[in-house]
Amino acid sequence: MLHREIPRLGKEYSILGFGCMRLPTKDGLIDEPKAEALMREAFEGGINYFDAAWPYHGGKCEEFVGRAMKPWRDKVTLVTKLPVWLLEKPEDMENFLHKQLEFLRTDHFDIYLLHSMNAERWDKMQRMNALDFLERARKAGKIRGIGFSFHDGLNSFKTIADAYPWDMCQIQYNLLDDNFQAGTEGLRYAASKGLSVVVMEPLKGGNISLPVPEELKSEAKAAGYTAPNLADLGLRWVWDHPEVSVVLSGMTTPEQLRQNLASAKRGMPGNLSDAERTFAAQVRSFFVERMRVPCTSCAYCKPCPQGVDIPQCFTNLNNAAISGNWEAQKANYNYILAPDREGKKASHCVECGECEPKCPQRIPIREKLKEVVAAFES
Ligand code: SF4
Ligand code: SF4
Repeated sequence: MLHREIPRLGKEYSILGFGCMRLPTKDGLIDEPKAEALMREAFEGGINYFDAAWPYHGGKCEEFVGRAMKPWRDKVTLVTKLPVWLLEKPEDMENFLHKQLEFLRTDHFDIYLLHSMNAERWDKMQRMNALDFLERARKAGKIRGIGFSFHDGLNSFKTIADAYPWDMCQIQYNLLDDNFQAGTEGLRYAASKGLSVVVMEPLKGGNISLPVPEELKSEAKAAGYTAPNLADLGLRWVWDHPEVSVVLSGMTTPEQLRQNLASAKRGMPGNLSDAERTFAAQVRSFFVERMRVPCTSCAYCKPCPQGVDIPQCFTNLNNAAISGNWEAQKANYNYILAPDREGKKASHCVECGECEPKCPQRIPIREKLKEVVAAFES
């Protein structure tokens, strides 16, 4: 496993980090035996950076991760995040931190982040004196590194990055999002300030892990690209940037983990050949032309009071638009969201709007769900 440094923490980390947002599930809950085996295999494969958060898996992630990694907790970096949007008063920060330490069965977090920051949440954190709270928690030994994860525009990113000597930040970055949110300019800005960057959504919620599309097979061949899907290209594209420290991948299956571990062996800056860079640009154009919704399947918009499975709806819509196989995606949509299943179809949306402020991608969910209905339910 290759490693890169986060200098302000004085430590090296595996370039592939394990994101605990997409653990294997069964009947809507974490499939604990499978998830535990997957995390152990990741640890044994050399991954030493594990990223959890309060809201993942409907709030069940941290408790499970604490149990699963207990035997090897001391050998890895454990990161989690303060759920900023749930704070009502300053004391809540301390309460959440204590609850999280309890859930994750640890006496400290190696890195603690303000979760999913944007301009509005940064104002809230300043009003609540969050930086004082974080400093106190660090002094008390409950947290070591201090950082923030980010979903907003470039100007907000610079404002937050400038406000404090953060140890690191976590941004969304991938070959489709090089000019979105913090983007390449934000990445370089952070590097210029000595602020280390951990990347999330390197495959844009799995969109860049689809099989190489038929239309791009000859371009793949010309680039000497032989991987069965685009995940290897997507990950190596991010690692190609020397400003990036760790790339988080939310892995669900052992096959994905093994493929990502294989890709990580080549994850040095400058790992892409000129022909592969050309191919990456072709993949970008292909996706940009076809993708209907910039959804990363993060599920922050859930639960919908009507039970609409918003990420599933958008996954099917994007997959259909990218592959051109509308009939197959329609069948898959109607199978996964069948009436006797937990998740409901887009037509159950009553347009209450509750989901939209929760979406870090600022997707007009109500409007886009109408496209899903038109595509799969009419
Ligand atoms: S707008 Fe629709 S999808 Fe969003 S929370 Fe309301 S009912 Fe659910
Ligand atoms: S609609 Fe937004 S919040 Fe919901 S899964 Fe997609 S990106 Fe995440």
